[in-house]
Amino acid sequence: MLATSLTATRQLLKPLQSIPAVNQLINKISKINFQPIVTVYLVYETACKLPELMSGILGGLSHWVFDHRLTGQENMLAVVISGEGKHQEISREELIEKIDNELRSIFTLPKLIHGLVNLEKKATFDCVPGINDFRPQQKTEIEGLYLAGDYTQTGYPSTLEGAIISGKKSAQIIKSLYPLCQ
Ligand SMILES: Cc1cc2nc3c(=O)[nH]c(=O)nc-3n(C[C@H](O)[C@H](O)[C@H](O)COP(=O)(O)OP(=O)(O)OC[C@H]3O[C@@H](n4cnc5c(N)ncnc54)[C@H](O)[C@@H]3O)c2cc1C
Repeated sequence: MLATSLTATRQLLKPLQSIPAVNQLINKISKINFQPIVTVYLVYETACKLPELMSGILGGLSHWVFDHRLTGQENMLAVVISGEGKHQEISREELIEKIDNELRSIFTLPKLIHGLVNLEKKATFDCVPGINDFRPQQKTEIEGLYLAGDYTQTGYPSTLEGAIISGKKSAQIIKSLYPLCQ
């Protein structure tokens, strides 16, 4: 069972691309594009004490705000921005400043002392209409090769739920084909 990300799966299959079925699989999954996720970490002088551990923001740059007091870092917030958008048009320093100001317009916050931007360019696969044509089944045409990953046929977009469904499906197929494999 190859339970790696789409990019890693493609790289791991490449040395076997002289096998037609492997080549077909590589071609199919290579048509899947990606979307980025940016996480902006903000460290404040003292505890932030947001009303909720997780808050959704509408109409701004920020999408989700997580209060890191959940992990014992009470003076840190993590702001998640999913997909492409205006935040990609500005520098990291500007993004930190804008996000801090945006949060300040909603919450009362202490002085910001540090900010860090983490960009995951290939965070999720691009869930566009027709994407299912390129998502492979867990059972491949290659004997003995099974796939697990959110990008496979799960009925879900790029999510943890999808990844779990995929792993379960793949394991169930293997179990049904090899009864001694419990
Ligand atoms: C910043 C960010 C935020 C996200 N937020 C959410 C969210 O809030 N909710 C949600 O549902 N989903 C979220 N997602 C999406 C979610 O993380 C993915 O859908 C899910 O992790 C996909 O699981 P997977 O098992 O398919 O792949 P992965 O989680 O990528 O697991 C693949 C594993 O393969 C390993 N691997 C890679 N190469 C090799 C190799 N050569 N040999 C062996 N192992 C290898 C990797 O180390 C990794 O552990 C987020 C993703 C990102 C990047």
